[in-house]
Amino acid sequence: MAPIRNGRVLFNEIPSGYPEPGKTMVYDDSQLIDVDNVSLNGRFLIKVLVLSIDPYLRGRMRDPSIKSYSMAFKIGAPMDNFGVGVVLRSENDQVKAGDHVYGFYPFQEYVTFREISELRRARVLKNEGGLPWSVYVGVCGLAGHTAHHGWVEFAKPKQGDVVFVTAGAGPVGSTVIQLAKQAGCKVIASAGSEEKVDFLKSNGTDVAFNYKTEKTLDVLLKEGPIDIYWDNVGGESFDAALEAAAWHARFIECGMISAYNNANSYTVKNLPLIFAKSLTLYGFTVMDFHDKYAERFYEEVPRMVQEGKIKYTEDVSFGLESVGEAMLDVQMGRNKGKKIVVVADE
Ligand code: NAP
Repeated sequence: MAPIRNGRVLFNEIPSGYPEPGKTMVYDDSQLIDVDNVSLNGRFLIKVLVLSIDPYLRGRMRDPSIKSYSMAFKIGAPMDNFGVGVVLRSENDQVKAGDHVYGFYPFQEYVTFREISELRRARVLKNEGGLPWSVYVGVCGLAGHTAHHGWVEFAKPKQGDVVFVTAGAGPVGSTVIQLAKQAGCKVIASAGSEEKVDFLKSNGTDVAFNYKTEKTLDVLLKEGPIDIYWDNVGGESFDAALEAAAWHARFIECGMISAYNNANSYTVKNLPLIFAKSLTLYGFTVMDFHDKYAERFYEEVPRMVQEGKIKYTEDVSFGLESVGEAMLDVQMGRNKGKKIVVVADE
């Protein structure tokens, strides 16, 4: 076959506020690849099928001299994140043609690797239940791992505990809500539109509200006190949760998206309540628990998804050209479910 396009998404400029598609990141179609004949020299060639678009990617759009838990993107290089690809050709006995591999991919249509470990957290997916591959970047990918590992490690729920979840309509929040309901908890959850509130109700949430039209503190004081707070947004919601927390409540600090795009974010006023109410705050990143929980996760969660015991929704964009808008959607709350980019069909 003649050489074909090998499109990429390059990081172009560090944004000061929200990322700007076409400026922060640019789509580049200048490279070609001959997938049938490109010489592998012991490597394997993967066609990228689906990529995950996550809130934390905003934190990687920074000056690399600023230290963080995640690597900064390099100006002029392809952006990268978790995805699923299919092996087209292999001269490496770690994978064979037709294998589907979860791992960390450059935002590029075709890519070769020498070792599977280059894909970081790589996994050849068995997918015995025949789930769509996109599920492995959502409820069975980073977002699902985050909800599962954080809940199992820290929540220690008792029947009847009151749990508050912010960004409840997203993949992390909606999975946490379902785990909390399975544990017999009462769940309060917030989201940023009426459509998302309806989704929260359909997902088993006992008290669902739109934080843009109702005051979070009023809802929590009426429906609380809260025993477990799953924090995805920080800021004013975190402050309200401190005020409405029960004695000895646990705060699971998963993310603080309200501060990701805004240098002048909300100042939390209720920090003294952490000692006054003997609260425990657990901050974590999902990678802390990968080794501890990954096998259990892949054993249990894909099966629960297949059996409908854990439900999920996806918000799909098509083609690498859509990555910029997809990233902005997640930061602005325009996504309705797990945001993914389908790069190619099988
Ligand atoms: P997501 O829900 O798909 O997308 C983020 C959502 O945050 C948006 O849809 C929006 O929903 C909400 N949001 C945006 N700006 C907001 C603001 N200023 N105030 C309140 N809400 C805002 O994301 P996700 O993948 O499930 O991730 C949820 C959280 O988990 C994020 O904070 C993320 O960084 C964190 N996370 C942490 C780890 C970890 O290892 N600790 C791993 C993965 C994800 P609304 O329309 O409801 O506002």
